[in-house]
Amino acid sequence: MNRALKKCINPSCGLTYEIINNNYQCSCGSFLDVLYPEKPSKELTEIFYQRRNPNRNIYNESGVWRFRELLNFPEIDTENISECSNVLVSLDGAEGRLSKPYNMSKVADFVDLPHENLFLQPEGYNPSGSFKDNGMSSAVTHAKMLKIKTLICASTGNTSASAAMYASNENMECDVFIPKGEIAPGKLGQAFQFGAQVIQVEGNFDDALQSSLEYSKISKGYTVNSINPFRIEGQKTIIYRALEHLEWNPPDWIIYPGGALGNISSCGKALIELYEWGWIQKIPRIAVVNAEGANTLYELVNGKFENTKLHWNGGNPDMDKIQRYYQYKKEKNLLPKTRATAIQIGKPSNIVKGLRALWYTNGLVIQVNDGEMMDGMSIVGLNGFDCELASGAVPAGIKKLREKDIIKKDDIVVGILTGRQKDPSLSMEYHMNTKNRFSKPPKNIYQNNPSLALE
Ligand SMILES: *Cc1c(COP(=O)(O)O)cnc(C)c1O
Ligand SMILES: [Zn+2]
Repeated sequence: MNRALKKCINPSCGLTYEIINNNYQCSCGSFLDVLYPEKPSKELTEIFYQRRNPNRNIYNESGVWRFRELLNFPEIDTENISECSNVLVSLDGAEGRLSKPYNMSKVADFVDLPHENLFLQPEGYNPSGSFKDNGMSSAVTHAKMLKIKTLICASTGNTSASAAMYASNENMECDVFIPKGEIAPGKLGQAFQFGAQVIQVEGNFDDALQSSLEYSKISKGYTVNSINPFRIEGQKTIIYRALEHLEWNPPDWIIYPGGALGNISSCGKALIELYEWGWIQKIPRIAVVNAEGANTLYELVNGKFENTKLHWNGGNPDMDKIQRYYQYKKEKNLLPKTRATAIQIGKPSNIVKGLRALWYTNGLVIQVNDGEMMDGMSIVGLNGFDCELASGAVPAGIKKLREKDIIKKDDIVVGILTGRQKDPSLSMEYHMNTKNRFSKPPKNIYQNNPSLALE
């Protein structure tokens, strides 16, 4: 029988494994991909479209499971609803349901693109408020296949919110490791509200991830960070929804903020598969936007460290160079620092898959500062859409790439707005300060005289 497998991402190793276990690493140390034996027919796109009229079927309503044939690692009959409901994990069809590309005219003006060429996809409109729900539904489906009852993650906030929401809905336990004091209050509040056990780590996200991985070994819980290849599977649907909107004609560019690099890894895998299946004839270029204060990928890929550029290199990137970079950062006590805490990550755990995505798509990496992200976040808001500071890196990055004329004026650009605003104090602070480009400070009236507000 043809079965889904896990396969080493290093082509010169290529070992395969059964999927009924939660190993995320090959014996050679590389990460794993989920591999499907069959090549799906492009005629499925018609079925995906029809499912947008869900007919009371939550697996059609779900923006993830609507595409279930393209991530059918549970090997179910995808038209059999009772089989779907026994196996697939969904927040009643809500994940990915509201996210699709929108034209945003004010953002288009801000980045200097024609209105019809710019699309932004607000993944913050997921039930827990970030794109993480896409991958969580598939990862928790896998945990359920393994009959594991405890989810574990390290998080800058959104992974823990998502994991906690799914765990409570599935009657599972959830242990979340967070860098103490470094996550947005709205995100931490969600972890508590959904009943997770919060474990505060003295250190940054990279330390929290290390602790959580050690803990998952001894506690036998199920890790839902993006090192888990089943997380990556669900996140492919972000790209499917974007492409569906464009009638499966790929854009010229897809823009992401870069943190642990799970998102660009899944985008890369989705594009590799679609191209190999003959569904698309063109590969969009991925642009990753790092925060200046957490710019590991930017520095390594652009030769800012040791003057040589890190690249995929046929599956054998210079891992020693990455370690030397981390060592150098440690010796100089250079910790990741940005107000965009969702991407305040010094050691992107998916760096190798990320390099593969950049190589395959002829991608590139740029960086923006916190002020630029604030403007980006604010112009999205003025367009009537909600996003958080890390997502503000996307309009800020597109603007920068247009200024350098790397993105051309007639290019079609899709930007992924990864999460919803969960730290309203940032918007308040921005608008209080008249020096900010888009600020609109409050007015005060005295002596209960409303006409003073006209001044
Ligand atoms: C997790 C997260 C990111 C970073 O995504 P990676 O896949 O880790 O690169 C960016 N923005 C938001 C809002 C996030 O929650
Ligand atoms: Zn291997």
